[in-house]
Amino acid sequence: MAKILIVDDAEFLRVRISKMLSGDGHEIVEAENGARAVEQYKIIHPDLVLMDITMPEMDGLSALKAIRSYDPKARIIMLTALGQESVVLEAIKSGARDFIVKPFERERVINAISKILG
Ligand SMILES: [Mg+2]
Repeated sequence: MAKILIVDDAEFLRVRISKMLSGDGHEIVEAENGARAVEQYKIIHPDLVLMDITMPEMDGLSALKAIRSYDPKARIIMLTALGQESVVLEAIKSGARDFIVKPFERERVINAISKILG
């Protein structure tokens, strides 16, 4: 069981991922943009963050960098769309552990999470 922060500006996606993970007993917290994600990270210190890239207020790349400078050990998986390869590359260079391309199946999400949580 882990504390997982789901960050995406699309509510339906946060709900969908929450449902994918709910059977495994994880504690889920949601944030709707990068700025909220950074705030939430500092409050709840999640074991893992699933981070969208394109969001209002603060995008996922900026939020990744802010979280990693606050906690260099932060474990963050990017949620990406096709055509975002250059952003994904920069995210990986900036410490993202993995990326999941939308649209994704439950199995891909579960595999990525268990690979990181061990
Ligand atoms: Mg988005």
